[in-house]
Amino acid sequence: MRQPSVPTTPTDNPVMNISPSPVIRPPATIAILGGGQLGSMLAHAARHMGYRTLCISSNTDDPAARWADHHLAADPGDANVISRIAADVQAITVETESIEPAALAAAEAIGTRVAPSSHVQTIVRDRRLEKSFLASNHLSVGPFRIVESAAQMQHTAQELFGNGAKEILAKTARGGYDGKGQRWIRTPGQADAAWQALGQVPLVVETRVDFVGEISVIVARSPDGSMSTLPVFANEHRHGILFQTRMPAALSPATTHAAVNLARRTAQHLNVVGLLAVEMFVLPDGRVLVNEMAARPHNSGHVTLRAATRSQFEMHIAAICGLPLPEVEILRPAVMTNLLGDLWPVESPPAATSDGGHRHPDWATVLADGRATLHLYGKTPRQGRKMGHLIHTGHTAEEALASATAAINQLQTHHASEPA
Ligand code: AMP
Repeated sequence: MRQPSVPTTPTDNPVMNISPSPVIRPPATIAILGGGQLGSMLAHAARHMGYRTLCISSNTDDPAARWADHHLAADPGDANVISRIAADVQAITVETESIEPAALAAAEAIGTRVAPSSHVQTIVRDRRLEKSFLASNHLSVGPFRIVESAAQMQHTAQELFGNGAKEILAKTARGGYDGKGQRWIRTPGQADAAWQALGQVPLVVETRVDFVGEISVIVARSPDGSMSTLPVFANEHRHGILFQTRMPAALSPATTHAAVNLARRTAQHLNVVGLLAVEMFVLPDGRVLVNEMAARPHNSGHVTLRAATRSQFEMHIAAICGLPLPEVEILRPAVMTNLLGDLWPVESPPAATSDGGHRHPDWATVLADGRATLHLYGKTPRQGRKMGHLIHTGHTAEEALASATAAINQLQTHHASEPA
C-alpha cells in the first residue's frame, strides 16, 4: 500500500530552524484566514494585545469578521487574494485546516511571516500525511493504514481484523471534523459499505484504541524555536465531538511527562510556529499515542480563557510575533463544556426569525451561578454545530465539574420541556 511521502523542506531538521526573526510589535496588523469562532477569539486576543487584525472570510456575518478591525469578504484559500494583501500585513495566520497551503505559500513568497507555514498546513490538513509524518519521526501513533480504493479497503479490513482488531475506524483523509467523515467497521463485510458511505475518497483506517482517557497538549512555539507548553487538558468526546474539557487533567506525573514530551518533540519535528495542539489517547498502562494534531488554537484550549495566566489565543499571537513565551499557570480548576445547536429548541411552526426559528436556551438560570461564564459565537443553530461554550471554575476540580454538570442538565431539561 502506498504511503504518501511527507513533503520536506530545508527547515525540517529542528536544529536548523533557529533563525533570527524580528519581533512583530503592536500595532502591526495580523491577518486571520477563516471566519469561525477560533478566528474571533484570536482577533479578540490580538486586539487587546494592541495589534490590528484583518479577517479574510467569505461572509461579513462570520464570527471572526465581527471581531476583527477589518474584514475582507473573499475566499481565504485563494492564493491571488492572499498575495494581494500579504504586503500590507506583518503576519498571517489561519484558524482552520481548510485553508489551501498554496495561499500561504503565496504570502511566504512575498516574505510576510506566515504561521503555520504552508509546509505545516499541508501536513495537518491530510490525515495520510499527518499519520505518516508521526510514524516516520518515531512519534507514538496507533496502528493505521492508508486506503485509496475499494480493493484496498477490503484488503485492509481483512488484514486488520485478521491481526485481531475488534473494530476499525475509517476516516476521510481530508475535510472531516467533529465526527464527520468517520465510520466504524465491525466486520470485514462492512468495509465496502463504509468505502461507499464515505464518498469513495482517500481514507486513513485505524484500529480501535482501547484508551482510558483522551487528553490534549498545546505547545506554543516561536520562530526562534523556543517553546512553552500549556497545562495538559482531559477531554471527553461524545459522538466524535468534544463534549467537555477539564483542567487540570488527573494524570500520573509519568503520563504527564510523556505527553508533554511527545507534544514538544512533535512541534520541533514539524518546525511549527504558533500553536500546535496534539490530541492523544492515554492507554491503560499510562503510555500515550497521538490521535491527531492541529496547528492553530484548539477547542480544548478554550478553558484557558478564564482559568489560566494566559489564554491559548494570547499564546498563539505571542508565538507568531516572536514575543516571550513564559509557562502558562493554572489559576483555578475549570471545566469547559461545548454548547451544540441541539440545545436550541425549534419553534413549531418555525417562526420567521433570523436564526431559523430557534428559541434561545435558558441562559439566565445558567448564569445565576457566579462561577459560570457564557461564550456564544453568534452562529445560526444547527444540530451538532458548535454554538458556544461554558466555562465553570471551582476551588477544586470536583466543584467545577459539579457546576458544569448541573448547568448542562438544566439546559437539557429546559430543552426537553419546550413544546416540540
Ligand atoms: P478524530 O476526528 O480523529 O479526533 O476522532 C474523534 C474522536 O473519535 C476521538 O476523539 C476519539 O474519541 C474517537 N476516535 C478516533 N480515533 C479513534 C481510534 N483509533 N480508536 C478509538 N477511538 C477513536
